[in-house]
Amino acid sequence: MFIDYTKVELKAGSGGAGAVSFRREKYIPKGGPDGGDGGRGGHIIFQADSNLHTLQDVRYMKQYNAENGAKGTGACKTGRNGSDVIVSVPIGTIIKKIEKADIVADLVEENQRVIVCQGGYGGRGNTYFKTSTLQTPLKAQSGKPGESGVFEIELKVLADVGLVGLPNAGKSTLLARLSAARPKIADYPFTTLEPNLGIVQYNDYQSFVMADIPGLIDGASSGKGLGHQFLKHVERNKILIYLIESVDDNPLHTYQTLQHEIIQFNPDLGLKPNLICRSKMDLITDNSHQWQDFNQEVLDISAVSGVGLDLLISKISEFLHKID
Ligand code: GDP
Ligand code: MG
Repeated sequence: MFIDYTKVELKAGSGGAGAVSFRREKYIPKGGPDGGDGGRGGHIIFQADSNLHTLQDVRYMKQYNAENGAKGTGACKTGRNGSDVIVSVPIGTIIKKIEKADIVADLVEENQRVIVCQGGYGGRGNTYFKTSTLQTPLKAQSGKPGESGVFEIELKVLADVGLVGLPNAGKSTLLARLSAARPKIADYPFTTLEPNLGIVQYNDYQSFVMADIPGLIDGASSGKGLGHQFLKHVERNKILIYLIESVDDNPLHTYQTLQHEIIQFNPDLGLKPNLICRSKMDLITDNSHQWQDFNQEVLDISAVSGVGLDLLISKISEFLHKID
């Protein structure tokens, strides 16, 4: 599980001012008060949207301001309400006011809406203040300010697909190639200290979340390697993809080592559907050694040349549809 987190400044609109106005009609020299109320300020509303997977859009915006309500006018006309701002966020988003522990909103269902900052009420126009003894009130209220503040937006992201492989297997490169994520890519082991997430889009409107699980090493499940703390992240994945370099001297042994680590950590993980990929196919010179020992299909891919990537994505989506 990964936490996507951002801070955002929200400001609802202020209410419009009430009007001070008197009827002016021919033959009615002293018309009564007819000042309308101000309109309500726009709310800031958060809405859950199942098409979103990260807080990327909110992070990009940083600040949202809703429109102010319009002033009231004569003839008892109420001012127009300010337009609401609707912020779409993924299902599972939690909103907290900064420095306060309590949760303002917890969006768990598709299209669920919560007003996070309420727009200010419009002020009363002078019509409201007319009494039997006060026939010509000169007073109207100003609008109330809208609610505002800095809010923490948090999302627990669960990856659908986890990439498992030895350091250098090409996990980060594959994730970068398939998704909008740009994980750190380097030529030496243990460069990726944080699990990276990417959204892989396919068929125009479908997508899944893929996570790059930093390199496991032999003994990771017993706490020896860096991989250990990251194994936790594998637990929620629906599918595991084992990436093994095409130039690996003993790919079956590598696969068994990786699988052993995973199962040592949590036996249930051994039951997850998995795909085996032979990575860096552009580097292969001798196609014959060792790979025929697998009793399961092995997909040939290269994140550099792009070979096999369409097939990989369609295999993954096939699996995910079977699971859902
Ligand atoms: P990770 O440790 O599994 O995340 O591996 P990286 O993605 O950081 O890749 C390790 C090295 O292999 C980098 O130098 C990459 O440029 C290289 N690499 C990754 N995928 C490919 C590939 O498909 N072909 C080739 N030739 N090199 C690759
Ligand atoms: Mg990496």
